Amino acid sequence: MNHTLETLALLDGLTGLANRRQFDIFLRETIAQSVLSGKRIALIMLDVDMFKKYNDHYGHVEGDKCLQTVSHALSSMPRRKEDLIARYDGEEFVIILMDVTEEGAVAFAERALEAIRRQRIPHELTTLDEKVVTASAGVYLFVGTTPAQAPESVIIRADKALYQAKSKGRNRVEIATE
Ligand code: GH3
Ligand code: MG
Ligand code: MG
Repeated sequence: MNHTLETLALLDGLTGLANRRQFDIFLRETIAQSVLSGKRIALIMLDVDMFKKYNDHYGHVEGDKCLQTVSHALSSMPRRKEDLIARYDGEEFVIILMDVTEEGAVAFAERALEAIRRQRIPHELTTLDEKVVTASAGVYLFVGTTPAQAPESVIIRADKALYQAKSKGRNRVEIATE
């Protein structure tokens, strides 16, 4: 019973992915490890494009199904056991990759967007050419410092890159320059 409750407390009810709570714990631990090892961490923030329009057009129940399909596409991606994919909030997902190069992190983000597009979830109201559900992503790479970075400051950087991806037209990956 206790074990079940503990597990539930770390998983997102709709998608079965790691939840925000697990992500917060994991990110803090990963930064602490990086301080010791000097290994680079990549944080990828991924956000479904025009999801409000999706909900408005298909309804909230279909919206939920869409998020489940997107989550499944992400969780089915090959990855290492020290990496984490979590539902951050609503239609936003976060991915933590350990010990990666810039090219590796960007390639992973590109593959994540491709995995979502490949579901071919119809989206009549998207302004993009292909009328399917797409997502955008922002990538931030860093090494843990002493004192360790606050998780919030790292999230802000990845989120800024995501904002860039949105403003450049969506359905793309942008990397934080700092
Ligand atoms: P952008 O391309 O800029 O990301 O636009 P957007 O419409 O995706 O972004 P916005 O933040 O305006 O809308 C997000 C929508 O996601 C609004 C909210 O109703 C919906 N949403 C958030 N969580 C859930 C959920 O659990 N289920 C469903 N069905 N919808 C959700
Ligand atoms: Mg969105
Ligand atoms: Mg959003």
